[in-house]
Amino acid sequence: MIVRKLMPGRLVAATHNAGKVRELKDLFEPLGFEVVSAADLNLDEPDETEFTFEGNALIKARAACRATGAPALSDDSGLSVDALGGQPGVFTADWAGKPRDFSKAMEKVERALHDVDATDRSAAFHCCLAVVWPDGHEELFHGIVKGELVWPPRGDRGFGFDPVFVADGETETFGEMDPAKKHAMSHRADAFAKLKAALL
Ligand code: IMP
Repeated sequence: MIVRKLMPGRLVAATHNAGKVRELKDLFEPLGFEVVSAADLNLDEPDETEFTFEGNALIKARAACRATGAPALSDDSGLSVDALGGQPGVFTADWAGKPRDFSKAMEKVERALHDVDATDRSAAFHCCLAVVWPDGHEELFHGIVKGELVWPPRGDRGFGFDPVFVADGETETFGEMDPAKKHAMSHRADAFAKLKAALL
């Protein structure tokens, strides 16, 4: 098998999500990458028409790579709640409506848990990182962090569903946690560690 290496340099982060861009910069920039986001480059956001994190990550990275001619990195991620059969899953961002309102999305999940009388509040964040090169080579890495949902939301240091998620073995939500600590244990960090071992 030919091992493809990702050389430090410009990397297009195929996302318009400011929280994700911040975290991807924190992970990649110390390694010598210049992370430029799809939003910075005014790239269109492609429709995420697949039903897996991997499928949607590839859609985003392929579109950004095609538009820029540079290697592109995408992140497709979401929250899977066990008592809700894995929902919202790949539709996590959609539960926040348009324009995105994550306070409402967190309330919607809490209401859904209430509706099914859930005593099991276990959940997991998933992340799929895709890297696509201009010659069509593609690599995918999946990461996960398990935990449970709390209510009410706590903390404003993260983004998305961070204020209601407490990772296994922790007491702070991801919204309360020092970002450096989140970066050492998150689903994105897990996928990034696999990417780093394979490509860097
Ligand atoms: P998408 O990958 O753009 O479809 O959106 C994934 C959604 O999952 C985000 O908009 C967030 O709401 C949520 N999400 C993904 N990663 C995190 C995280 O690290 N913290 C909190 N929410 C997250």
